[in-house]
Parts: sequence; C-alpha cells; structure tokens
Amino acid sequence: AALYGAERENARGWDLHDDDDLDEIEAARSPFATHQWAVTPITARAPQGDEVLPVQNPAAPSDTVGTVTLADAATVEAALRDAAPWDAPAEDRRAVLFRAADLYEQNFGEIFAVLTREAGKTPMDAIAELREAVDFLRYYGARAPELEQPARGLFTCISPWNFPLAIFTGQIAAALAAGNGVLAKPAETTAVNAAIGVRLLLEAGVPATALQLLPGPGSVVGAALTSDARVSGVCFTGSTATAQRINRTMAETLPPSAPLIAETGGLNAMIVDSTALPEQAVKDIVASAFQSAGQRCSALRCLYVQEDVADTYLKMLFGAMDELVVGQPWQMSTDVGPVINEAARSDIQDYIEAARAQGRVLKELARPTTGTFVAPTVIRVNGIEDMRREIFGPVLHVATYKARELDQVVDTINASGFGLTFGMHSRIDDRIQQVTERLTVGNMYINRNQIGAIVGSQPFGGEGLSGTGPKAGGPAYVKRFTQAPATPYAA
Ligand code: GLU
Repeated sequence: AALYGAERENARGWDLHDDDDLDEIEAARSPFATHQWAVTPITARAPQGDEVLPVQNPAAPSDTVGTVTLADAATVEAALRDAAPWDAPAEDRRAVLFRAADLYEQNFGEIFAVLTREAGKTPMDAIAELREAVDFLRYYGARAPELEQPARGLFTCISPWNFPLAIFTGQIAAALAAGNGVLAKPAETTAVNAAIGVRLLLEAGVPATALQLLPGPGSVVGAALTSDARVSGVCFTGSTATAQRINRTMAETLPPSAPLIAETGGLNAMIVDSTALPEQAVKDIVASAFQSAGQRCSALRCLYVQEDVADTYLKMLFGAMDELVVGQPWQMSTDVGPVINEAARSDIQDYIEAARAQGRVLKELARPTTGTFVAPTVIRVNGIEDMRREIFGPVLHVATYKARELDQVVDTINASGFGLTFGMHSRIDDRIQQVTERLTVGNMYINRNQIGAIVGSQPFGGEGLSGTGPKAGGPAYVKRFTQAPATPYAA
C-alpha cells in the first residue's frame, strides 16, 4: 500500500499503519458490509417519483448497495413550494452544524462502508473524505455568527460523485450557515452517501423545509432547480461544460443578482526540475496522479520533467507504480480502487487504447478484470497542448522540457485556459518564484503533492475554466451565500 502515509491522514485521522486502528475501522464497518439502503427523495412532504435505480458497487458488480428513487418534476415542484430559508439565529445555525459534525463522526462505520461500496473509495480516501466533510461543517458553521449580511433565500446545491460526502456536505453547510434553505441535487450514482448526510443534518436539527434531497437526472431535477424564480443562487461542482450550461440557463431565467458558485475541471500540471529531490518528487507524483484513481479535479494530469533527469525519473516512477495495490476498495492495503462506473471505465480505456495505437503508452499496471477498474497508466505527450480534455482517471501524461524552456512551459500551461492546481518540485527559490509569478492557477503546491486541500488552511478553487471562486474552505466562501453588501459610492 504505497500511498499510505499521506500527510493529511497521519496528521488528522486514523493511522492505517496501526493494527488497532485497522481493527477498529473494520469493526465499525462490518455491520454495513452487506446492508442495502433504499434512498428516496427527502422532502418536507413532496410526492415521490416512481423511477427506481439500483445502486451498484463499482468494484463488485454482484454487490447491490441499494436503490434510489428518483425525484420527478412533481417532486421538485412540491419541494420548491415547501422550501424556506433557515430563519434560526446564527448561533443556533452554528450549533446545529457542529452537532451534525459530531453525528458524522459517530456514524463513521456506516459512512465508511458506503464510501467504499457505493463510490469505490479506498480506506484512506474514505477516512480523508469523512474528515473533510466534518471540517466543512465545523468551519462553515463557525462562520455563521460572523456574517454581516442576511441569507439570499434558497440555494440549489448540485454535487458530484467523486466526493459524494465531502463536497455534497460542504456546499450544503455553507448555504445553511448563511441561513439559506437548500435544495440538494446529488449525483444519482452516489445518492446513498448523500442521503446519509441529509439524514444526519436533519437529525442534528436542520428544519425539513431548509434541506431537501432531490436525487435525479440533471435534465429533470437540475434543469428545474437552476431556472426556477424561487431559487436565489446555485452552487455547483462538476464539469466545466455543465457549469457553462447552468450559467446560460441562469442568465436567461434568474435575476442577474443570483450567483453561480462553481468549481469545475482542470488540466493540472507539475514541473519537476533537475534540482528536485527525486524520492520526494516521485512519491508526490504518484499520489497526485493516482490517489482516488485520479478522480479528483485537483489530480496531476501532465508532468513536465527536466530533460536532463527524465530517464532517472521515469525509472523511479515506474518502480514506485509497481508498488501500488490496485484492487478492492474495502481492503485495507488497496491504493487504487475502481473508477465510478462502466461509462467512465470505457471512456478512459478507449483513450488509453488510442494512445497505445500511437505508441505513446509508457507504462501500464495490471488491474482486476471484474468491476470498473482502469490500470494506472503513463502516456507520453509533448506537452499539455496535446491534451484536449480532462481524462478523469488514473492516467498520467509525461512531457520533458529543457531548462531554458521553463517560461514557455508555464505559458503553455496557462494557455490551456484551466487554472486549478499546479505542483512544482525544485530546490531553487528564484526558479519557484519565477514560475509562481507567471502562472495563473488557483492552488499551487511546492515540493509536495497537489491534492487533498485542507479546509481552513488551504482554500480550494481555480481560475479561468476551473471555476468562479470564492475558494471552498476559505474565509470568503460563506459570504457569497449571503446578500451582497450595498457598497457606498466611493469617488
Ligand atoms: N478538494 C479536492 C482536492 O484538493 C478536489 C476536489 C474535486 O475533485 O472536486 O483534492
């Protein structure tokens, strides 16, 4: 389990090297290892839709995690009719969100089981995800009494399957901390995770009219919730194309004051120069590209290695990759689990096959043949300009550059139009400075990996095609969910 030992987990959560911790994690998870959940929309009193989807374990086709009843147009309409801002005093909102954080922690076993079985999360990812969700609840909850402006009203929160608990909870917690009512549309694929989050938030004391769960297709639920005049803002995490579509819909249907808070995709690069510490850089490359099976918008997609050291790096990288355990997400030793579903698997695999046909696949690991696994793969490119889209899986592209081309490399990275994360490994301060000043990017990580931003200390979000800001887990975020202050005229 080569990825074990990432800073976040050692500093903040369970220790996966510790046998006692492992036993405790396993004991907490066990009762839910074969349980099946039946998720329905959670609404104040709305009728249910009648389309029911099975929820499958991506790593084990025979494991049915449960079912999800989708919201239909009537469910959404009734939820909108009942929805109301959360008009409790700020101190109470803070207390309820803190209580929800405690409940999340107490329900670790169930959450861990669902993260692994429904979303294919490895043990390390599942622990980190629960921590992040809890951090969001406490961090945004603590902001409530500091806010100077009132809530906007009702927020639509549309969240992705790749952080089915953390991002789902973060969006909702921010909107609720500001006193808004929330209509939450999770990815249907991970509705069980979402339903557990809502259950615990309601149990903590969020009123039923202030938080309703509406799992369903974007074309029905998302479309209605981003164009209805009763909605005063939309928070979205997902693809850039979907964010642009939501933006267009909102522009045509909602008042111009309704904000879109969007966190979208990235084509993230890392530059490693000849002064970098190879052992450290390789460890960080592996974590950045392959942890979470590359299904993070922050993940490293294009590595630039200085030409002089490229051969050494590739040899070390391939050696480190050979240590990765690609396997069942509920096994403690697993580093890389499945991708989310068959559609994702075949899309990524087709991309790899096209690169193979061009002789550009440099390294590919073995993978389990049942379940939706993609093997960690390295593909040679000339640079980020060869990558026309974000491949959301364990695929690392590698390019080389000459020392004198550094500025040009940075310009090419900027020219992608994305600007989410960036990593740099170098021991020359001036060179780091040179790159920092030239690059347009939301989160820059120096001499470490470039994933797993920590709430409160590493606000997360991108520039350009990567999002609108403000950054999640940062001081400006919750304010965006309140009304804008009337700015006095300044000469
Ligand atoms: N916040 C996560 C990280 O820093 C990524 C979020 C995402 O993939 O949307 O790795």
